[in-house]
This record gives sequence, C-alpha cells and structure tokens, in this order.
Amino acid sequence: MHSKRTRLDRFISTHTQTHRKEVRLLLAQQRIQVDGRIATDIHQPVDEFSHIMFDGEVLQANTPSYIMMNKPIGVVSATKDTLHTTAIDLLNRPDRAHLHIAGRLDRFSSGLLLLTNDGRWSRSLSEPGFSVTKRYIVTVKHPITDDYIHAFSAGMFFAYENITTRPATLHILDEHTAEICLTEGRYHQIKRMFGRFRNPVLALHRIAIGNLALEATLNQGEYRDLTALEVRTITQPEQNDH
Ligand code: URA
Repeated sequence: MHSKRTRLDRFISTHTQTHRKEVRLLLAQQRIQVDGRIATDIHQPVDEFSHIMFDGEVLQANTPSYIMMNKPIGVVSATKDTLHTTAIDLLNRPDRAHLHIAGRLDRFSSGLLLLTNDGRWSRSLSEPGFSVTKRYIVTVKHPITDDYIHAFSAGMFFAYENITTRPATLHILDEHTAEICLTEGRYHQIKRMFGRFRNPVLALHRIAIGNLALEATLNQGEYRDLTALEVRTITQPEQNDH
C-alpha cells in the first residue's frame, strides 16, 4: 500500500540492471519514455502508475483502480480472512490481488466501501487534519433523544485509545433512525458511541465518503469503477445539505 515514488534513474537502474551512472547516457540517446514522452531528466519523479518504456519495450504499465462497493452485512473489510468472505472475494477482476480497502466498515455494517491500488489516494482520505466526512444511517433499538446530539458533537472519551472523539453530527430522522457524520474512523466508533447510551445499534449503513455518495443502483455486493472526476473531487469541500 506504499506508493512507490522514486527517481527515474533509480527505477531504470533497478529494472534494467544498468548502473545508475549509465542511465544519463540512455536518456541522452532518447531510449527512455515516461508517460509517452522521451525522458530527459534523471531526477524525474516516477511512481507505480508511471508508464515507462525502454527501447520500445514496456518496463511498467500499472493502471490505478478506484472502486466503490455496496458492502453487504457479513462481509469483512479485509483482503484476506480465513473464516469470512472478504470484500476482495466479491470482486471479479484481474487486478483484485493488488487492491486494498480505503476506510474499513465493520462486518455487521453495510454500504459504501472504497477499494484501490493507489496508496497515496487512500491515505489522503484518512490523513489527520484533512478530515473527510463519512456519513452513515444508523438504526437503534431505543428512541434517540436530543441529548445524543450534544453528546456526539461534544466528543466522547475512549479510554482504550486515550482519545476524545472529534465533533460528530447527529441528525435525527425518526425515533430510531439518525444520520451521523464522522470525520474519523475509530474502531466500531458509532456502535461504541451509542453504547454510552446503552442503545444497541441494529443497523449501520454508510451512505457517503466526502463528496462521494453510494450509487443508489448498486445492490449489496455490487461495485463499479469511480469516474476520474469522482476520484479527484471526493476530498474537495463538501456540498452538504445540512
Ligand atoms: N462505526 C461503527 O461502529 N462501525 C463502522 O463500520 C463504522 C463506524
């Protein structure tokens, strides 16, 4: 999941068994192309998605993948699991072994799950101080009162992690249902927050991450590629209706 950002001379040297000093000569002879252009600078930064050719042969041609899935209940947000079906198991595509999950959902929750092979992008979604909002619809056993709104926005101290949760918004939809917006993803955070009120969560469904809403036509277990616009705009300031 690390983005393999490096310098062009280092990349060429590793992939062609050429000494780093000789790479300058290969560039002068116009034998290296990066993203369709003849390379001229040994310091040019390249990463795992740079398309790199040497003497007309492809040295690297990885394409980034960005997928939204409607995760069903019972499926784990993991790449491997010995007991349960994973989100990766649901994918029927050749690059699935290279994908990881950007922001997990617990096994008993459903909804928007993002998968990618682009570590830089997935880190940008969870960088501290760069809070991307995650929106959930929660259904709970006992009635939700206005006290919850204050408690969620004030933050709750979690002794295990020794942290106070960041302000979260709770918008009551009806007695047993609310929309929650979080800007972090602590372990079972919403269930633990309702746990403070001894109010068990019966269902939790993620409907959006940043600007990206779960596509309504995706049935549970279905997925689709994100558009280039969605990939770019997911972390931009959100158009929120409340
Ligand atoms: N809160 C939870 O309890 N579970 C999740 O998957 C996400 C937030």
